[in-house]
Amino acid sequence: MEAQSTRCLTCNKDIRVVENSVTFKCPGCGDGLVVRCGECRAQMRSWKCPVCGFEGP
Ligand SMILES: [Zn+2]
Ligand SMILES: [Zn+2]
Repeated sequence: MEAQSTRCLTCNKDIRVVENSVTFKCPGCGDGLVVRCGECRAQMRSWKCPVCGFEGP
């Protein structure tokens, strides 16, 4: 099993220590794992898929 990334794509914070954090598959390519911490979600910071470069809120 490959270890899942737990670092927020935007601020690189460990999402395990931030509430309301989420991980989901990139809607652009369906392959990249998007990791967002609760803080970046609350502040509507954008993220970028590490696989295809898709950017989203
Ligand atoms: Zn963050
Ligand atoms: Zn992608």
